[in-house]
Amino acid sequence: MNRVRLLHFNAALGPLDYRVPEGMEVAPGSVVVAPLGPRQIVGIVWEPERLPTEPVPDAKLRPLMAVFPVPPLQPELRRLIEWTADYYCASPASVARMVLSSGGALRGPSTITEYRLSGGMPERMTAQRQAAIEALEGEQATIRELAGIAGVSEGVLRGLVNQGVLEPVVVDCDRPYPPAAADYAQPELTEDQQEVAGRFTAAVRATGFAPFLLDGVTGSGKTEVYFEAIAECLRNERQTLVLLPEIALTEAFLRRFEERFGAPPIVWHSSLKSTERRRAWRAIASGEAQVVVGARSALFLPYARLGLIVVDEAHEVSFKQDDGVRYNARDVAVMRARFERIPVVLASATPALESLQMAESGIYEKLVLPARFGGAELPAIDTINLTEEKPERGRWLAPRLVAAMEERLARGEQSLLFLNRRGYAPLTLCRHCGFRFQCPNCSAWLVEHRLSRRLACHHCGHETPPPNNCPECGEPECLVACGPGVERIADEVAERLREARLAVATSDTLNSPEKAAEFIARAEAGEIDVIVGTQLVTKGFHFPELTLVGVVDADLGLEGGDLRAAERTYQQVAQVAGRAGRGAKPGEVLIQTRHPEASVIAALAAGDRDAFYDAETEARRHAGAPPFGRWAAIIVSSEDEAEAREAANRIGATRPHLDDVMILGPAPAPMALLRGRYRYRLLLNARRSAEVQNVIRDWLGALSFPQGVRVAVDVDPYSFV
Ligand code: ADP
Ligand code: ZN
Repeated sequence: MNRVRLLHFNAALGPLDYRVPEGMEVAPGSVVVAPLGPRQIVGIVWEPERLPTEPVPDAKLRPLMAVFPVPPLQPELRRLIEWTADYYCASPASVARMVLSSGGALRGPSTITEYRLSGGMPERMTAQRQAAIEALEGEQATIRELAGIAGVSEGVLRGLVNQGVLEPVVVDCDRPYPPAAADYAQPELTEDQQEVAGRFTAAVRATGFAPFLLDGVTGSGKTEVYFEAIAECLRNERQTLVLLPEIALTEAFLRRFEERFGAPPIVWHSSLKSTERRRAWRAIASGEAQVVVGARSALFLPYARLGLIVVDEAHEVSFKQDDGVRYNARDVAVMRARFERIPVVLASATPALESLQMAESGIYEKLVLPARFGGAELPAIDTINLTEEKPERGRWLAPRLVAAMEERLARGEQSLLFLNRRGYAPLTLCRHCGFRFQCPNCSAWLVEHRLSRRLACHHCGHETPPPNNCPECGEPECLVACGPGVERIADEVAERLREARLAVATSDTLNSPEKAAEFIARAEAGEIDVIVGTQLVTKGFHFPELTLVGVVDADLGLEGGDLRAAERTYQQVAQVAGRAGRGAKPGEVLIQTRHPEASVIAALAAGDRDAFYDAETEARRHAGAPPFGRWAAIIVSSEDEAEAREAANRIGATRPHLDDVMILGPAPAPMALLRGRYRYRLLLNARRSAEVQNVIRDWLGALSFPQGVRVAVDVDPYSFV
């Protein structure tokens, strides 16, 4: 081959052809460097017939400059890149960028100099140096990363290097990971578990596409069972990818994995240090990495010998990415398994309706674990009708819930209160003039965080200290907090159960793996009596003394009115309920609601999952919603209101008229201003048979927009703001 076509990352240009110079070896999938004008670009060698472009005469071709010393991307991965781009209306380059997600990994073997504290002290101690030394205890990383950790400039740290306070350590970037062993600590499985594990191990050995829905109540041993599939993969020297929805609580998972396999898995998420990222990427590409546990982005890594994918808590919304390439990792995982011809396991106690439907129609094999391990009973669930059993004025917890917590406290057991609202109060207003604190960049109220003394926007990160006077009328001491967040609930608990030891568990308080691990250790050791938390505490841990779960406001999730509101409420409450009574002692769940008659609440209270899913299925069928019909959104945004509106109107005016696609809008998005951009939305509701992606591509492809306008397409959207 002496002419190649490249997929590259310069969005303004189409695919480019190059000449392969004498003596250079390239194959489809090779990652190369090529000249573009005076600059260099990175590209991936692609099959030309799959990447059409205007042919360039031979004489005009410039030669490739170099090939990166990494294995060529395999055809299965290249097909996945194409499929993802095609399905989600994204460019193949933007998907390929997620594959080549470590710049450092492309370069060959190398060493790196990291630094750590030597134990020495500087001649002259300054406050900054002191703080840096304290912050860097136990850390080893590059100067730049250490500067980030310590929150000081690199200059300060270089000063400490010169003084010998930080010492250099030369590290092999690609040093091997400790090996995991299939049979390190094999548990004895129950009969039900054995049956499921047997299906998995057979599928791993068979190496063909095999999608499974592992449907098992919380605590039934789903993790234990898919660990057996991983063990089989290890025995066959193939790689496993486990996708987890929340990296904050992976700590518990890692520990459990290590207990089972004798070594931790390789972790992949967006906040890895660049050295860790490089090391993991190269181990994955070489095949040395055995098991990778990661957030959704781990799905696009170049596994050399993938043998199994597990998506744990597969119903979780966080598998959907809502910027850049708007993909759903659960669905792409199934596609990757198909291209790789391997099994994929979607595990959940509350599967998405879409997944259940796939099982129903025989596309996924459904495996059920019907009972909790060790005979633990599922908790008893009851509702508290807030219109009858009212909390006292200015309080949020009904007397019956407080009494139940007092009982637990007296018995030395734990309670968990669930409220999916960070901070102290979701809205702050002026008692005098009614002024409401709103984000200047978003259509959203500022949320008061009393612990950290700030008013913050949860969408753009804008924050300001709470003022003493109202910014509108100038009245002093007049601000009132409206509604509860977890901090306010924690305050109420502190007032009413004075002896209780409290922990607030949210992404604000457990914002690092260390803090999450510390929280879990304290809860396990019985050092916490009451946990107040957001959805962060709905999954992934097992506290045997936790016997009461209180859902502070079950109606909260139903208010947004989006397509999956009922399903999401069901899943969240069922998941958090699953935290209760996992040990020998039975659990109790109390759900506070103003609508005990709502079908989702009634189904939860009756423990009748099928009733809920049946009702929800009918509602979706009626609405032509997934899985019976499809949705896609077009989101138009600009910093200029008029520009956004005009662009949206132009898209609206050129809409195609089709029998099987209904097009709604354009209309201002519910979140009409987000991060300083004005937003309009169009919504497509299509029959399953419609080729909605082609419709959108043809429609939008014929239009062009001013520079400042962004037009994003969201296929199978989860967010309707
Ligand atoms: P799930 O993933 O379905 O919530 P887990 O796999 O976390 O369930 O199991 C719940 C608890 O029961 C865990 O503490 C787990 O270690 C334990 N467990 C489950 N199955 C077994 C088994 N066969 N032998 C020993 N412990 C088990
Ligand atoms: Zn904002």
